[in-house]
Amino acid sequence: MPMGEFDLIERFFKRPRQEAVVGIGDDCAVWAPRAGHQLVFSADMLVEGRHFLSTVDPTRLGHKSLAVNLSDLAACGATPKAFLLSLSLPRVDETWLSGFSQGLFALAKEHGCELIGGDTTQGPLNIAITVMGEVPAGEAVMRSGAQVGDDVYVSGNLGDARLALEAFRGTVRLPEAVFDLARLRMEVPTPRIALGQALRGVAHAMADVSDGLVGDLGHLLKASAVGAEIDWPLAQPLLQSLQQWACPNDLAMTCVLSGGDDYELVFCAPPSAAERVQMAAQSSQTAVTKIGRITPAPAATSSGQTLVLRDSHGQIVPTQFRSFDHFA
Ligand code: ADP
Ligand code: MG
Repeated sequence: MPMGEFDLIERFFKRPRQEAVVGIGDDCAVWAPRAGHQLVFSADMLVEGRHFLSTVDPTRLGHKSLAVNLSDLAACGATPKAFLLSLSLPRVDETWLSGFSQGLFALAKEHGCELIGGDTTQGPLNIAITVMGEVPAGEAVMRSGAQVGDDVYVSGNLGDARLALEAFRGTVRLPEAVFDLARLRMEVPTPRIALGQALRGVAHAMADVSDGLVGDLGHLLKASAVGAEIDWPLAQPLLQSLQQWACPNDLAMTCVLSGGDDYELVFCAPPSAAERVQMAAQSSQTAVTKIGRITPAPAATSSGQTLVLRDSHGQIVPTQFRSFDHFA
C-alpha cells in the first residue's frame, strides 16, 4: 500500500517536541513567548520551475527552503524559534522526502528552529515555510532606520548564485571549479543569523538580499526616505568567483547588483559604530564589506537617482539595474 499523508508526516517530519508547548499532531501548535520578548514572523515559498530546477538535489532543496526563511529572521536581528512547513507534492517519493527532510532538519538543528506543524497536499511541487523568531522587545532591526551619513555594508559575497544561473541558462561557460562554487552558493545559501543578531543595537537599518542588491537596498532606502551611493570598486570583489575567474565587468555588475538568491545582509550603521560593526563581524565569523554611504533623499541630490553607483574615479556609472519581480 502506498504511504498516506499522515504516515508521511509521521515518518519524515515529526520529531520529538523541543520548546513548543504543543507541536505537530493537533489542530494548532502552541507556543509560549518569553517575557520581555517579541515574536517575529516571515513566510517564503519555493515553486518548482520558478525558484529551483526539478533536477536539484533534494537535500540541498530542503536546506534552501528553510535557509531563505531564516535569512528574513537574520535581517531583523531575530533568533529562530519555530517553523511551519506547507508542502504540495506530486507523489510520495520516499527517496526525495528522505533527502529533503535531512537537508531541512540539518539546518533547523543548527539554528535550534523547531518544526511545529504545516500542511501536506498533493499537487505541483511547492514548498511554503512560515518561520517564527524572537527578539528582545523593541529591538528588531527594520528597513526604515537608515540615516544620512550612515555607511552601507554587505555581508559575505554577492552575485555568485546569479552567475550559476547564467551558466545553467548557457549564457556563460565557467571553468568547473568556478561553476561548482557558484552552484553551491545558489543551492546552499547561508542565512546570516549570528551576524544579524550581533547587529542589534548597532545597525540603524537592515534587509536581506534575496532579489538583488539594488532592489533590496532600494526597498530599505525607500522605507528610510534616503538615497545611497555605492562604490563599484568596493562592491565588485564581492563576487567570490572573481578570485578564480576573470568575469567580464558587465556580467559582474549584473550578478553583484541585480543577481538575487544571495541571502546576505545589507545594513547601514553610523561611522561612529564602525568598530562595533567589525566586532559583530568577528563574533559571528562573517565577513562584512563597506560598499558605500547613505545620502539625502533623491529629490535633494543633483542626480535625482535614489541609488548612485560610482566608478574608481568617482564618476557616476549609468545603470538600469532593477530587482527581480515575478510579475514585471
Ligand atoms: P488539519 O486537518 O487540522 O489542517 P492536518 O491533517 O493537515 O491538520 O495535519 C495534521 C497535523 O500534521 C497538524 O498538526 C499539522 O500541523 C501537521 N502537519 C501537516 N503537514 C505537515 C508537514 N509537512 N510538516 C509538519 N507538520 C505537518
Ligand atoms: Mg490541514
